Amino acid sequence: MSEEEQLPCRLCNGTLEEVVVAKRSIWMCRGCGSALVERTDLIPVLEVAAREIASQVSYDTEIIPIPQPGTVPCPDCDKMMDSFGYMETNLVYPWRCYSCALVYMGADVMGTMTLLFARTNFRHDAFVSHMQEELASMDRRMSAVLMNRIREGWMMMGA
Ligand SMILES: [Zn+2]
Ligand SMILES: [Zn+2]
Repeated sequence: MSEEEQLPCRLCNGTLEEVVVAKRSIWMCRGCGSALVERTDLIPVLEVAAREIASQVSYDTEIIPIPQPGTVPCPDCDKMMDSFGYMETNLVYPWRCYSCALVYMGADVMGTMTLLFARTNFRHDAFVSHMQEELASMDRRMSAVLMNRIREGWMMMGA
């Protein structure tokens, strides 16, 4: 994608302008907040956005699905894009262009993906800390058993 090029927003009459998020260039519309991201930059950009809202997200944060949209032409090459269920869910559908390896989404789609990303992080962290507690209590149980054996051993020797 050439740097000076002005890319048209496909959701309003605005243009997409380059902004830097997480040290990566993304193209955003000031008018409606739609965003164009290189496919490989999507996760790092979402990671940063998700961190900003992490404190407001919990295990049960509700995510309101956004219906699958029709197609739009790629802002860069004009070929029709297709939409895909993000993170293999049917909650939100960004567009992608196979030729340019770009992902394009409206502000509502980007917001929902960020929320989904943050909730997945939260659930993962909750799972990990739950497992750590399980393992720690398993350790405590194990050492209790071991201590009993040792005590029994001493008692037998003393008997
Ligand atoms: Zn726009
Ligand atoms: Zn394209």
